[in-house]
Parts: sequence; C-alpha cells; structure tokens
Amino acid sequence: PSPKKKRKINGVVVVNGANGRALSNGTSNDIKLHRTQLPIWTGKAALVSAVKNNDTVVVLGETGSGKTTQLPQFLHEAGLTRDGIIAVTQPRRVAAISLAARVALEQGTPLGQLVGYNVRFDEHTTRNTRIKFCTDGMLVRELLIDSDLDRYSVVVVDEAHERTLRTDMLLGSLKRIQRERKTGEKRDRDGKKMKPLKVVVMSATLDAERFSAFFNRCPVLYISGRQHPVQICHSKTPVEDFQDAALRTFLQLHLDHPPGDVLVFLPGQDDIESLAKSIRAYIPQVPPSQQKVLVLPLYGALPPEQQKKIFDPPPAGTRKVVLATNIAETSITIPGIRYVIDTGLCKERSYHTRHGGSGLDELLVKPISKSSAQQRSGRAGREAPGTCFRLYTEQSYNQLTNAPTPEIQRCDLNSAILDLKCLGEDPMEFAYMDRPLDDSIRGSLITLYALQALDSQGRLTRLGRRLASFPLEPALSLVVLSSQSRACTAEILDIVSLLTCTAKLFIDNADTREAAADARKKFQHRDGDHLTLLNIFRSFEDVLSSNLSAASSQANGGPAHTGSRRAAREWCKAHFLNEKALNEATTIRTQLRGNCEREKIDWKVSCGDDAEPVLRCLLDGLFRKSAIKAPDGTYRQIGMQQVLKIHPSSSLVDRKPPTIIFDELLITSAVYARGVSAVHSSWLIDTPLLNSNARGNTTAPYTNGHT
Ligand code: ADP
Ligand code: MG
Repeated sequence: PSPKKKRKINGVVVVNGANGRALSNGTSNDIKLHRTQLPIWTGKAALVSAVKNNDTVVVLGETGSGKTTQLPQFLHEAGLTRDGIIAVTQPRRVAAISLAARVALEQGTPLGQLVGYNVRFDEHTTRNTRIKFCTDGMLVRELLIDSDLDRYSVVVVDEAHERTLRTDMLLGSLKRIQRERKTGEKRDRDGKKMKPLKVVVMSATLDAERFSAFFNRCPVLYISGRQHPVQICHSKTPVEDFQDAALRTFLQLHLDHPPGDVLVFLPGQDDIESLAKSIRAYIPQVPPSQQKVLVLPLYGALPPEQQKKIFDPPPAGTRKVVLATNIAETSITIPGIRYVIDTGLCKERSYHTRHGGSGLDELLVKPISKSSAQQRSGRAGREAPGTCFRLYTEQSYNQLTNAPTPEIQRCDLNSAILDLKCLGEDPMEFAYMDRPLDDSIRGSLITLYALQALDSQGRLTRLGRRLASFPLEPALSLVVLSSQSRACTAEILDIVSLLTCTAKLFIDNADTREAAADARKKFQHRDGDHLTLLNIFRSFEDVLSSNLSAASSQANGGPAHTGSRRAAREWCKAHFLNEKALNEATTIRTQLRGNCEREKIDWKVSCGDDAEPVLRCLLDGLFRKSAIKAPDGTYRQIGMQQVLKIHPSSSLVDRKPPTIIFDELLITSAVYARGVSAVHSSWLIDTPLLNSNARGNTTAPYTNGHT
C-alpha cells in the first residue's frame, strides 16, 4: 500500500526517515550517528507524544527501522520511567538478551543496570533498572505475582505479529489491567487510584488494524523505512532436499554474484549446523581468486558471545553467510545482507489434534506463511537492492497461507490455562484476540483436573498454585512436587533439567551414530532413557569435579576451573554429547532448586540407586504419556488408543517392555514415542487418568495420588 493509503488508518503518523546504514559496536560517536540515522529517529517527538496522550498505541514499522532498540530509549529519555519501569517483551530469549545488550551499550551503561533483561532461568536487573527486556513468558509469570504490574509504567509488546501464546495472554491481561487501573476497580497499597498503564504494541507486518481494534481502536503509528527493491527468484521445480539445494544455491551465488553478505533461513539448529559443515567443507574447492567465506550460525540456543559476531562486519575480502532460524525474520536485523536464501520452512510447535486429540505438542517442520516469506525476502533489501532465492516454486508460494496461525490456536494450552486460572481469569471468557477452540480449552481444563490442579468445580487448588510456581509445564511441575513424598528430588531435578533445556543433548548424525551409540553404552540404564539421562548428567559432573580437585591439588597447574572445563569438553566430545546442553541443564537445575526451596522441598534428598521412586514420580506427571504394548509389538497410548512405536533412538526399542512412559511423540511415517522408560503396569492403578475420562467427563471420580 502507498504511504497515502497508510495515512488513512486512524491516527496515523507517517514518519519518513533515512536508512540506517553505518553500523558499529564502537565509540559513542558512532553509536550516536547510528541512532540518528535510523528511520525511527525523525519520528521521535511524534512517538513520545502519542504514547503520552494515549493509553495504547500500535507502532508499525519495517524490520530494522529501530522500533525495539530506540522506542524504549525515547520513552525513558522523555521521562516515562520516572514512576515505573518500561518492560519490552520479546517472544525469544536470545533476542531479549541481545537487544538488552545493544540498548545498554547505546545508553553507555553496563548491561543489567539501567537496561537489563529477564528471561527464563536468567535475570540481569537491579533495583535501578528502568528498561527491562524480557520474554513474553516472563512477564506473564510476573503477572502471577503482581496482577496489576504495579512496578511498570509502560509495557511494550514487541513482535506482536508473531502472536505467540504468551503474547496473546499478555494482550488480554493488559487490556484488563488498563481497565482496572483506570476505573479504580483496583487500588494500590495505600488505597489510592493507580496510574494508568501505557501499552505499546509493536509489529513488523501490516496487521495493525487488528491490534488497534482489539485495544478499542487505538491510534496506529507507521514508521516508513526505505526498503530497496529485492529481486525474487523462485525455484523452477520443487526442491527435494532443501539442505542440498541451499548448499548449491549458496555456492552458485558465491561464484557468480558481487560481494554482499548472505542470510539463509533454515528450520532448525540441526539444519543450521549441518549446512555450516557442508559449506565449510566445500569452500576450499572454490577457485582461489574468490572471496573468503565466513559462516555464522544464529539460533535460539546459541550463547550470547557467539551471537554478537553476526553484527560485526566481516574482514575485508570475506563474504559473511549467516545461517538462521526465523529469529532473523523480524526480531534481529543483521547488517550487510544483500542476498537471502529461503528454504520456505520453519519449525512450529503445534497441538496434536490429528491423532484423536492426544493433547500433546509436537515440533514439526512446516511451510512458512506468505507474510513470513515476504519478511524473509525483505531482509535482502535493507541497505541496497538485493536478491532473494526461494527454494520453492512460485506455485508453492501462491499456496502458502497468508499469515501464520496464532500459537494459541495450535499448541498445548495446559500451562497457559493454569496461568489464567492463577490470574483469576475464566479461561472460557478471557479476552482472546483469537479464541482457541473450545475443545482445546476444555481439554486443558480436564488435564489440569486430572493433575489435580483444579477441583471438580474447576476451581484452582492449592496444588494447582504450587504447580504454576515452577517454570515448567504443569505435568513436569507435578513430577517435581511428587518427588518430595517419594524422596528422590535430587534425581528428579537432574532429569527434569535435562528434559527442559533447549539445546540438544545428543549430537550425532548418520555418520557418527554407531560410534556415538558405542561410546554412550555405559550410560544406558535398563529401565530406559530417563535414567540414562541421569547417568549422563552425573558422569558429566564427576568429570567436572574430579578434574577440579586434581587440578587444584597441583600447585603450578593452570586455574582449576579451566582444567576441569577442558576435561569436561573433551569428555562431551568423546561421547558425542553437547556440552552446552549440560551447562544449560546445570543452570536450570539451580533455578529449580530455588523454586523447591520456596516450596519447602529439600532438593538434596536422594533415593540412591533405587530406580522405582524416580519412575513412579515421572509417571505421576506423565501419565497421559503412557502406553501399553499390544500383541503385535506396537503400543496403545492410554486413554486415547493412539497407536505408537518406540523411536529407534530409545534404548528400549528392542526390549519393548509391557508398559512405557515417554516424553514426546514424533510423527513421521509412523507415530514414535521418544524419551521412553519402562514402568510397572501395576503402578498405573495409582494414576488419576484411569479413573477419570480424559476426553470429556469431568465428573468422574479419581483417586488421590499426590498431596
Ligand atoms: P526493529 O525493531 O525496528 O526491527 P531494531 O531496533 O531491532 O529495529 O534495530 C535497529 C538497528 O540496530 C538495526 O540496524 C540493527 O542492525 C541494529 N542492531 C540491533 N541490535 C544490534 C546489536 N546487538 N549490535 C549491533 N547493531 C544492532
Ligand atoms: Mg524489533
């Protein structure tokens, strides 16, 4: 749409700006220059006054125009943090951390002071923090503690177009808080009427009208950046192997096209790592006169130090190629990009409704939407005309859906519904921007009832509130809580931490699979994959601590810490394990221990080598993910009769015990259960599911297994 047309949106301000080109991590002058060249800069006054004069504004602007990094600073500099913090929410933790670091740098303050961040399992703020980047999930958790968001003067809901589950929950809750603060329904601690809460909704796509309509037709501000033309090349025939196609396209581009950095969109971390490997392997075969190539991955689980590299200009004579997930679509803008290679795929968590509503999430590789495809190609034209190579045909493009389905309509709602219950909201009446299916809301209510988080009237129980206090899905929270009475909290925290971490633990591919299986044989536990995880975690810690003591007893050795780290790294490598995952699990465990302390659970209590309490705890929470062997060797999931098989990666694939529990289902040619342990059939009697009908009958009685 032309700028003229955009003017028609109610209350629109058209802000024209230069295209921010000079980018630097360097001196304060560079930074000032960079800031003033961003398209948003000239709209500063208009933005500030719009926020001052309205409860809610929607800000729409192209990716890279400066919304996320600048707007919070504008508001801070204009005095809007005098009586409260500005929260800026992000769907992804990496983006939250990276953007907080950038804004802290621009403010010339250390990260964690004036500008801080708060993401799950990691917080960097002080009492003086005024601009706080956080994941949308963290702000929802804060709502549980402070349902009026007392401490905040402004909440900026960023990347709202992504419509994550937590973003949608926030939007609905913010609307309520604004109303309550305004009408004086709720008072502050001194009984005074509360200050209004300002909300800014920011989006990169043209969906402003819907957000505006949701917030009582609030004004929309449009920031126009200068987008250069991008030539789009579709694949002529359908691509069979996107890895191979991406590699070929990149090599061809590198040989034929003038300098300029490349951004490749891939579905997930594994795809990124494997393409990085093949590019690095092929580059030495390219004629020597060509530019050098610098390959940089970018995905959620990447440590912040490595992420920073993508913002640095490559050395002279080098072409940078960034391999990214959809994180680079709108939340992180990488300078220097002239070429985009788009596989057209992304990983999406979706609710498992196809198979009789077994109520489980699965992570699937899916085609992107048209709006994502446009965002991806747009990344090539930020600084100059660019080219986008789509690894799909024009016909496939035309068949893509217009926009992604909001997550709330496609994922498991258990923890969201539990959170809503804790917030005192009625999940059937909540102000959803897009309402989930009544069946999925009801399904979650029933699961929560089966977990005893809700009573038969649908009221939140004391157990339910305790479950919500853990940063885990309710089923895993229950596993942790029940470890107290089964006296195995130490073991359970190890296992749950590894189950929760985002990085992949096992890093083998088709070539190394056998060697990896051999190396890891010694960890294998006869009862299955969960206890195998425990063995791995414990061996890792043994390596860390034994080398620590050995090194510290050697007076002239290097620092003990480095020595043990190095040993741990080598140990991980020898066993094809991802050190990052183990480190992440260690961090998660520390936080969970804190949660346990608050719940008065002694996390040091251990059951030694006895596997039974551990397995029983897992079953207490995961009973919906249990299955019984049928005569033909396949399994039937309890309660839904879903037919499934044990995934070949499981240590139980050959043994096929009569009754199993599992972590997740993987749907390929068949339905596979992954992360499998053997349990005793008789233990199932104690699980609530057998006694309450999981698919609809909420009044069925059930036994009381855990209190
Ligand atoms: P928007 O939110 O509108 O997409 P941002 O505020 O995220 O835009 O980005 C504005 C500019 O700041 C972009 O040019 C981006 O490359 C730059 N930028 C953001 N984060 C960093 C960083 N960590 N280091 C260097 N430059 C950054
Ligand atoms: Mg942004």
